[in-house]
Amino acid sequence: MININEPKIEFALNAVRQAASLAGDIQQEMVSVALTKDDRSPVTVADFAAQAVVSSLLEKRFPDAILVGEEQADVLRSPEGRETLDKVADFASRAIPGVTPKLVCEYIDRGAAAPGENYWTLDPIDGTKGFLRGAQYACALAYVEEGKVQIGVLGCPNMNPNLREDVGGSGLLVVAKRESGSWMTELRESQAEGQYSPLTVSTRLEPEQARLMRSFESGHTNVSQVDHFQEELGGKADPVRMDSQVKYALLAAGWGEIYLRLLSPDRMDYREKIWDQAAGSVIVEEAGGRVTDLDGNPLDFSQGRTLKKNRGICATNGILHEAALTALGKINA
Ligand code: AMP
Ligand code: MG
Repeated sequence: MININEPKIEFALNAVRQAASLAGDIQQEMVSVALTKDDRSPVTVADFAAQAVVSSLLEKRFPDAILVGEEQADVLRSPEGRETLDKVADFASRAIPGVTPKLVCEYIDRGAAAPGENYWTLDPIDGTKGFLRGAQYACALAYVEEGKVQIGVLGCPNMNPNLREDVGGSGLLVVAKRESGSWMTELRESQAEGQYSPLTVSTRLEPEQARLMRSFESGHTNVSQVDHFQEELGGKADPVRMDSQVKYALLAAGWGEIYLRLLSPDRMDYREKIWDQAAGSVIVEEAGGRVTDLDGNPLDFSQGRTLKKNRGICATNGILHEAALTALGKINA
């Protein structure tokens, strides 16, 4: 059982609930690309507003805690970002009453901290491209101690509480704590009434029955290698293509068996960002699954803002992990 009144868990649940609900509102009221980052990825009003909200709540609750967040405010401070900043402050003020544009930037930039021995890591909108397409996305927050994730929370505004992948659900909240299992409830507190149900991975053990999960965005994986991998397993089940760490939640709930992050051919040097994997990986492990890199090594969250020592990700229901790693070896992934 998980103790949702434990201070860090209570904080994380509340922060993700507020940030993810705000993102859901922004998606309904205005969706547009705000700006393009240096790595050419999009960032929206929702990414900035959600990071400001979580950061302000963290500062109030745990003033000395380190936050490692995906977003930075410098672009909002530039003249071209002014209009966006006003929108961000406007939406953020729903969760942080009276917040000014200047304060919003300060909250966002608290997330620029270097990871210490213990730190929080946040992806305010994981799957921004999914968010812009009206598909799946998640607000992901995790707490890491000495390189190992201890707490993970995913807020998934577009997912159904029954974990069917159709978009437009009323929202799902998933939480895991090391040694305390993975649990889910409604994202909307009014409907949740403190009801948490446990998540458990699937018990499928035949490789040919494994349902594969991968990124919707082709540029985030290697599509032809995923096909080879499935042939190698003798796979017959339809793969699941979806944005963001919502895939980890589905794997934890038994709606898929193998989730791969293969290196895209034009970015073989890509290393995963800690906020893209921290919350989801502990949720899968605590649901009985296994998460390693493509070489079978455990994920090491003590290496800075990326998983520098790991290549790609292989997450499974546990039973099929060795079969998945063997197949990866055979296709030279
Ligand atoms: P997904 O929706 O599962 O594809 O994951 C979205 C995440 O992929 C984003 O948060 C990005 O940080 C990350 N990402 C961006 N570029 C790449 C890349 N070339 N390879 C793998 N992941 C990437
Ligand atoms: Mg992300």
